[in-house]
Amino acid sequence: MKVPLLDLNQQNQALAPELRAAFDRVLGHGQFILGNEVAQFEEACAKELNARHAIAVSSGTDALLLALMTLGIGPGDEVICPSFSFFATAGAIARVGAKPIFADICPTTFNLDPQSAESRITQRTKAIMPVHLFGQTADMAALLDLAQKHGLCVIEDAAQAFGAEQNGQAAGTYGDFGCFSFFPSKNLGGFGDGGLVTTNDDDLAERARILRVHGGAPKYYHAMIGGNFRCDALQAALLAPKLPHHRNYREARASHAAFYQEALVGCSTITLPTAKPENLHIWNQFTLRLPAGKSAQELPRDLLKAHLAAHDIGSEIYYPVPLHRQECFAYCESDPCPESDQAAREVLSIPVYPELSSAQREHVAATIRAFATEA
Ligand SMILES: *Cc1c(COP(=O)(O)O)cnc(C)c1O
Repeated sequence: MKVPLLDLNQQNQALAPELRAAFDRVLGHGQFILGNEVAQFEEACAKELNARHAIAVSSGTDALLLALMTLGIGPGDEVICPSFSFFATAGAIARVGAKPIFADICPTTFNLDPQSAESRITQRTKAIMPVHLFGQTADMAALLDLAQKHGLCVIEDAAQAFGAEQNGQAAGTYGDFGCFSFFPSKNLGGFGDGGLVTTNDDDLAERARILRVHGGAPKYYHAMIGGNFRCDALQAALLAPKLPHHRNYREARASHAAFYQEALVGCSTITLPTAKPENLHIWNQFTLRLPAGKSAQELPRDLLKAHLAAHDIGSEIYYPVPLHRQECFAYCESDPCPESDQAAREVLSIPVYPELSSAQREHVAATIRAFATEA
């Protein structure tokens, strides 16, 4: 039985009539950039997340860039982010001319460790950028406390966390900005690139909307230098019919996660991911850890990955190189991030997409159990 890491087709085919109607509508009116389709989608997102403002943009990466630019972060500034994340988190910081300062993660949630973040604060620190990795919200109470104490901005990288909550509040609505991605593999996956920034601050929202269109206000008159961070009307029109389903997607993912947690509980060589009680985890990834010694040449997680592949099961290493070890960030001369190093050697994400069948997830669990018993 074949189990891919992700299957977008089933989810989208189920909505084919609505998607075709959306495409026809845009083809008919010919308004291809921003406009009414985007405005309506933004309104629906704001309502869904209970955010005051939602601003649709060209990608999750551009959402981060726009948030940083809107807050005026640039050369001479430092922004603290976790070392264990997708590249875009730190890439965006460096692209505005600020310096990414890498902090370590909490090994059970994979999210920014507030104590490590605090240890990195200097006179130049302007912002903290927590990432809600794999769909679980970072410890926002502690991080907001820290930000308030030191007068820092907070930009949440919620690219993997559309629909995640902490104590009933949506991820991405805690900080100055929340940044989301509609990259096809995310929980609310689009049809190409797309993203969203949310904020509860009216002034920041206004600035962000201006910077989204090169900073011109009115058009062709520039007090600010922005970029082209516009969202396509087609993207918004196609995402709109998917938006109401994101709760079903997250529920289906959670049911697979619960299944794996029960089915794999006896595998002593594997550490299962957990959700903290205050968190509604959307399980954008279900990420196992296979403990590795400090000097092991053969990583147990690489062996499991090969074993899964031999049984037609997809898996992926998110992420094999922590950001503080990326060649392009050598100039940052990061303090050590041992938990990020360790996670990079131990993690393996397995299929958890909503449309996974019971037979498929049984096959995944049985294949992992067989590996764990052999080991
Ligand atoms: C996907 C992702 C991004 C970037 O989103 P794109 O839409 O691909 O540009 C940023 N941060 C994290 C943590 C992500 O997972």
